[in-house]
Amino acid sequence: MARCTGADCRECRREGCKLFLKGERCTTKKCAMERRPVAPGQHGTGRKKVTEYGTQLREKQKVKKYYGILEKQFHRYYDEAERMKGVTGENMLSLIERRLDNVVYRMGIGSSRKESRQIVNHCQITVNGKTVNIPSYQVKVGDEIAVKENKRELEMFKQLKGMKMVMPKWLEFNTEALTGKILALPTREDIDLNIKEHLIIELYSR
Ligand code: SF4
Repeated sequence: MARCTGADCRECRREGCKLFLKGERCTTKKCAMERRPVAPGQHGTGRKKVTEYGTQLREKQKVKKYYGILEKQFHRYYDEAERMKGVTGENMLSLIERRLDNVVYRMGIGSSRKESRQIVNHCQITVNGKTVNIPSYQVKVGDEIAVKENKRELEMFKQLKGMKMVMPKWLEFNTEALTGKILALPTREDIDLNIKEHLIIELYSR
């Protein structure tokens, strides 16, 4: 399965913002954006004139990296969002936010989207009682997401027990039972990422 394989911290430095790709490390002083917040490479500190196209392209690359998705799949979200009623940019983000790997991350089961993707790939998550190992699986309202019963004794899941989690209002997760629920579809206000989605729509509309 195709996935992003670039050096994580380098990606953050390229985009000039924290993409939170490395879990706990991202909130410590070891974060590369704390130590060296300049673009990677020999000319990283130089001033560059960025064109309108360049700004739009960087915004798209940033969102793809946030969620760890590649161009083809990202474009599919855009196509689907365009066919839906409402604002295309907001629809697109809502569709991406509903990916199972992202939901597992938002629920706090994985410490980063990358780790959450691995958890899903390794058949450790069930949706409505059935194992789902497809990271791009789209959740629906009412879906019950859980850590698979025979995996709950793994150290990484045991340490979640009893933890207080802060999560978006469209999700619910019980850290004792290791089960959660999709309460609503995510809206733009629920997505706390610094994204200017209109730039991506402008790019694709060229
Ligand atoms: Fe980005 Fe996290 Fe690396 Fe910091 S530690 S640069 S937020 S991936």
